[in-house]
Amino acid sequence: MSVLILIDHADGHVKKASLEALTYGAAVAKQLGVSAAGLLLGTVQDDVAALGQYGVSTIHQVANEAFNSLDAQVYAKAVAEAVQSTGATVVVVSHNQTGKAIAPRISAALKAGLVAGAVALPDISNGFVVKKAVFSGKAFANVNVTSAIKVVSLNPNSFKVEAIGGTATVSALAITPAAARVKVTAVNKVSGEVPLTEAEVVVSGGRGLKGPENWGIVEDLAHVLHAALACSRPVADSHWRPHHEHVGQTGFQVAPNLYIAIGISGAIQHLAGVNRSKVMVVINKDPEAPFFKAADYGIVGDAFEVVPQLTAEIKKL
Ligand code: FAD
Repeated sequence: MSVLILIDHADGHVKKASLEALTYGAAVAKQLGVSAAGLLLGTVQDDVAALGQYGVSTIHQVANEAFNSLDAQVYAKAVAEAVQSTGATVVVVSHNQTGKAIAPRISAALKAGLVAGAVALPDISNGFVVKKAVFSGKAFANVNVTSAIKVVSLNPNSFKVEAIGGTATVSALAITPAAARVKVTAVNKVSGEVPLTEAEVVVSGGRGLKGPENWGIVEDLAHVLHAALACSRPVADSHWRPHHEHVGQTGFQVAPNLYIAIGISGAIQHLAGVNRSKVMVVINKDPEAPFFKAADYGIVGDAFEVVPQLTAEIKKL
């Protein structure tokens, strides 16, 4: 018995969400009294052994560059093979874009129960009961996984990354990538200064900004906060901003430490993508805007006055 945690990476670097998954998986292993290992498919520029500081004793690495770009089917097959060869009984992946694509495939390949979007450690006092977010984060369900192998995808930003020191043993795992059924012919990088789903701070604009020509004030605020840019759906639909910035039920789901909404009404479909943010600040000129009910801090005022003042004050810090 052991816990195997998939280490997701892009552009040669391990994603922050994987550090959370490693910390979480190590904590699950501790609960169960078993060992925890990471699984790295592909190669990264980061120090792999140093990932041991998040509580795993071993990193199994399949150092084949074919895994450096994600093909969900090929990845899932490789993870399933790694689970079988390492004898793991719990598989942890992050519930990010990668995890959402591969966790169900891993689960099907291994005939394993899946908890998608876990937000807490399992309760193992009577089974393996994992709390997960449902209905776009409006409620929680406790799911008891009874299969021999269990797959858990962890909601990003729901478990604190903890570095306890130490290094891991890096052991080479021989897995040949399965033949791909799709061929990647080109990759268009669309993320801005800071990737949206990994960002600690997100500054988001809505239709209250009146038009794309007014986005300078949003970009300036995002820049001083090292934040990623986001927007509401009508903004993307009107081509004011690119679709990869669209957050909400039909867009990206984000869970930053700070989400600043400017000129966004706070419709339920928008909230569905952002309500896992740790702190929400809303700037809206309408005191009745529904977003204020969900906000931690609200500023009732005209965005065109408030946002430049806020940026100027932050610059002084
Ligand atoms: P509006 O609703 O027009 O709100 C603009 C806000 O700006 C208002 O509250 C106004 O008071 C404020 N404002 C105006 N001028 C200023 C100013 N000068 N300063 C400050 N504030 C100002 N929406 C999403 O965002 N994401 C989704 O994923 C999504 N999915 C959807 C899925 C479905 C099936 C459906 C039906 C809808 C979906 N929507 C989604 C649309 C959603 O219902 C709302 O229509 C949308 O979120 C509204 O966008 P908004 O807040 O930018 O615009």
